[in-house]
Amino acid sequence: MTTTAGPVALPRTPVLRARVDAAVRSAAGALLWLGLLLVTYWWVADGGVQDLGGWTDGLTSLGRVSGLWSAVLLLAQVVLMARVPVLERAYGQDRLAALHRVVGFTSFNLMLAHIVLITWGYAAGRLTAFPGTLWNLTVDYPGMLLAVAGTLCLVMVVVTSVKAARRRLRYESWHLLHLYAYLGVGLALPHQLWTGAQFLTRPAATVFWWTAWAVAAGSVLVWRVALPLVRNVRHGLRVVAVVPEGRGVLSVWMEGRRLEQLGAEAGQFFTWRFLGRRGWTRANPYSLSAAPDGRHLRITVEVVGDGSAALAALRPGTRVLVEGPYGRMSERARTRRKVALVGAGVGIVPLRALADGLDYAPGDAVLVHRYRDEPLFRGELESLAQRRGLRIVALPGSRRAPSSWLPVGGAPADDTRTLLALLPDLADHDVFVCGPGGWTESFTRAARAAGLPDDQMHVETFGW
Ligand SMILES: Cc1cc2nc3c(=O)[nH]c(=O)nc-3n(C[C@H](O)[C@H](O)[C@H](O)COP(=O)(O)OP(=O)(O)OC[C@H]3O[C@@H](n4cnc5c(N)ncnc54)[C@H](O)[C@@H]3O)c2cc1C
Repeated sequence: MTTTAGPVALPRTPVLRARVDAAVRSAAGALLWLGLLLVTYWWVADGGVQDLGGWTDGLTSLGRVSGLWSAVLLLAQVVLMARVPVLERAYGQDRLAALHRVVGFTSFNLMLAHIVLITWGYAAGRLTAFPGTLWNLTVDYPGMLLAVAGTLCLVMVVVTSVKAARRRLRYESWHLLHLYAYLGVGLALPHQLWTGAQFLTRPAATVFWWTAWAVAAGSVLVWRVALPLVRNVRHGLRVVAVVPEGRGVLSVWMEGRRLEQLGAEAGQFFTWRFLGRRGWTRANPYSLSAAPDGRHLRITVEVVGDGSAALAALRPGTRVLVEGPYGRMSERARTRRKVALVGAGVGIVPLRALADGLDYAPGDAVLVHRYRDEPLFRGELESLAQRRGLRIVALPGSRRAPSSWLPVGGAPADDTRTLLALLPDLADHDVFVCGPGGWTESFTRAARAAGLPDDQMHVETFGW
């Protein structure tokens, strides 16, 4: 342990881990750009730029390069969602989800551009010949029927992911449809094997593409299939007790073998499946609500739908399957000695675990607790305040305005000034924020305006 400032040191390891994560993010970004650059270089070397001089050749050439970029991004997309631990830790849930959206929509748009431009080029630049050429390409060229089926899967996934459409779907339906993305990628890419000029003519390019495919498929098999299987067999998690925590909220305690080897930290979440009940195949994400002690895990759940309601009927001994631990709302994101934990509603859950699990001196941690009527974990937080010197700022009441993170009443100052009045040295803190999407946005806006740098803000929302 070394000191950065003040009476108690911020342990060296978290700072180091935050730096490693930042380095991983930079390396992952660089690798993706390198992949894009490499395929562009081969496209240029194959005369891609010269072809732009002619109308028909130009269309085909642009179609080729957009297809190559789309393929690289589609494979990157698969890796991003494969729950690769090093990426999970480096990005965290919210950043990964945002990245997934950007990369996903970009690769999809490029894929559409690829289809339109290539077909138009093969149709000698005549729009009237477009439908016939599309038909001929589909039926005459190897792998193209599969590619069409893959494209249709991806169209369905993207259409159902557009915000307006997503709001009308249940999470479960959306998630199930989303799994077709794997099928879509699997079917859409192989036509490269038979028809892709770059794939066929350059050994280096062939090696590049096979490696990229192998990495994407391997990541899914290892981290989405094999690792969860091994973990569940090894730890054999079971329910010990279900405890009511107040109106519409309950905690589930679980125990298992060698849980210290699970590598879970306070503030992280798992996806959970409780066997032996209807709908057990659907996994729901829940954060740990107590710092893991190597023997027990606890989650605390607000009843909002069928899945969460069913947890009240769980019997001791029920087998539990988990995937995780995920997320970077943990000590590993730490860069400062002081911490502020800011939560609203059930968003207090991971913060409750962090208030226990983080390393801090009395007076160096503050918990800002937004709730409507009754605070969750009142007794536990009071005991933490006494035991650890955690300062608690309670902000009860309904929201002042849809764009505000504050409750009604209190001083009429704006969101940013109130935040600075509560935490004058805000910029000296790592701030962990968790709550509903809209509320979290209001808070992070105020925190940014109050001068908090983004790399000191660690956010998780419970949305999808
Ligand atoms: C990273 C993360 C951590 C979370 N931690 C907690 C926690 O500690 N405590 C807690 O009470 N809740 C937590 N949630 C929210 C919780 O996952 C959902 O409330 C729960 O899955 C709802 O399932 P249901 O079957 O009861 O409700 P449903 O009837 O299926 O849905 C009710 C609402 O919950 C949302 N929802 C459903 N399934 C999911 C899902 N898999 N992911 C995200 N939202 C979903 C739907 O949008 C819907 O609005 C967390 C969510 C995420 C993403």
